[in-house]
Amino acid sequence: MMLNDLLKKIDQLSGGDPQAIDLIRRAYEFAQKAHEGQKRSSGEPYFNHCMATAQTLIDMKLDPKTIAAGLLHDVAEDTKYTILDIKKVFGDEIMFLVEGVTKLGKIKYHGDQQRAENLRKMFLAMAEDTRVILVKLADRLHNMQTLKYVKPEKQKRIAMETMEIYAPLAHRLGMGEIKGQLEDLSFQYLYPEEYKWVIDHVSEKYQERERYIEKIKPVIQEELTKENIKPINIDARAKRYYSLYKKLGKYDMNLDKIHDLVAVRIAVNTIEECYGALGVIHKLWRPLPGKIKDYIALPKPNGYQSLHTTVFCIDGKITEFQIRTLQMHDEAELGIAAHWLYTEKGKPKIGTKLDNKKFAWVSQLRDWQKEISGSQEFLESLKIDFFKDRIFVLTPKGDAIDLPEGATPVDFAYHIHSEVGDRCSGAKTNGKMVPLSHTLQNGDVVEIITQKKHTPTRSWLEFVKTSIAKNRIRHLLKKEYGIEILPVKKQSSGYHVEIKLTCSDRLGLLKDVSEEMQKSKINIESINSAKERKNSPVIITITTTIKIRTGVEKLVSKLKEVKNVDGATYKIMSRD
Ligand code: MN
Repeated sequence: MMLNDLLKKIDQLSGGDPQAIDLIRRAYEFAQKAHEGQKRSSGEPYFNHCMATAQTLIDMKLDPKTIAAGLLHDVAEDTKYTILDIKKVFGDEIMFLVEGVTKLGKIKYHGDQQRAENLRKMFLAMAEDTRVILVKLADRLHNMQTLKYVKPEKQKRIAMETMEIYAPLAHRLGMGEIKGQLEDLSFQYLYPEEYKWVIDHVSEKYQERERYIEKIKPVIQEELTKENIKPINIDARAKRYYSLYKKLGKYDMNLDKIHDLVAVRIAVNTIEECYGALGVIHKLWRPLPGKIKDYIALPKPNGYQSLHTTVFCIDGKITEFQIRTLQMHDEAELGIAAHWLYTEKGKPKIGTKLDNKKFAWVSQLRDWQKEISGSQEFLESLKIDFFKDRIFVLTPKGDAIDLPEGATPVDFAYHIHSEVGDRCSGAKTNGKMVPLSHTLQNGDVVEIITQKKHTPTRSWLEFVKTSIAKNRIRHLLKKEYGIEILPVKKQSSGYHVEIKLTCSDRLGLLKDVSEEMQKSKINIESINSAKERKNSPVIITITTTIKIRTGVEKLVSKLKEVKNVDGATYKIMSRD
């Protein structure tokens, strides 16, 4: 596809919006330049892959920004340009989408169940903007379409990942079309013999059935017209290979028992016409008992709606009919993407959570969450409002680790192992050194640097978020200093003060100081002792919050009475 064809499609899709056309033109030129000289395994220019991804997103009828993100999705990963370059040229929203796709690309599935769960969770965490997943699905579709050019040992792994992660995800989002394509493409790499068997046995049957449906089309057309129902179209729908193969497994591999091998699909304008058309078909041909399914009144869990019936058709051939409106059709094929088409007036914003009641997929994601985790864990996740305040970060090996929002490398380290936490002396995210108090972001690859003799410091308590880290650090500090460091109470109001005590060092000094505080029922927010040189006095620095001003002076004079405390000063930091 050339630039002009692309712009023509955007022109149609956006209703001639000059901004949309300009955006796509710029994204096209940027991506083409960035990937210049790069080749796919097939030998064709790398940029073709970007165009194929964008084309799929156009077929999903998505907004121009998502299509631009499709064109740019591999730029940050595979070229000399960075995510910041994309931010500079295209702004925050497109940067956010490309970054999400890049992050999702980092996790790899190797076939064990534990990792499949992690990977799905990761995707769910990314669902804060579903468009990230849609771009990733479009990317994966083209990678599957060109999988034959990839080394055989890699083919199997990618096909398995597609079957276990991407196809179920597309299904959960109600995207029947892309799900079917992904499954069939994976099928041929995962089970080549079975795939060949299905093709060999079915292709002739398919053709025969399609000829047959051409024969019954005019008959239905005529009857519908008599009842004043104007069908938008009537066509034959051949069952997908993988879903046929799965169904055959239940019917002794006997193709004659599969009635929906090729189904007749009728699209009409209204729900009334759906039921009207069902009546017309039943008047013409006798239905098989128990085969009438009303997915309009009772949609499938993923939102699918249609009327299905199976009848003894012309020449007594058992034939399935599927009747639906055009909107139901689009929703069955495009799923979540169709919701944008039909319900979004404006453009979706970054991180917009779609309305729960309107969008069945939100509850689908919840169902999925229920499926993939134990009930205990699920209850936990309800408490935290469905990943709203969770993030997922990755180990250098690609395992997803689930942490609360605001978590730091120290939380991550303690999550890996208490030893790693204790010895943690530095951290890298995405290859760059960061402070231990750094706030981790969804999808960060985190690497912990340890030192043998390293131990936690009190300041860690001020930034760690997980109770596992807090408890361990407090435990170690208590062991080392013999004092209880209480958790910082949030939002205690009063005078925030810093007290400095000058002392001559002795055993149990810190313990006595903290006991004095506890006697006065005052919470220690932080406590630190330091000595400049071997023989200089110890300076103990305490921060705390005290309700009334006179309480500060009272405490300071009490602390002066502790043995070996030679002097005390205080500073009021703030008041609220
Ligand atoms: Mn790609």
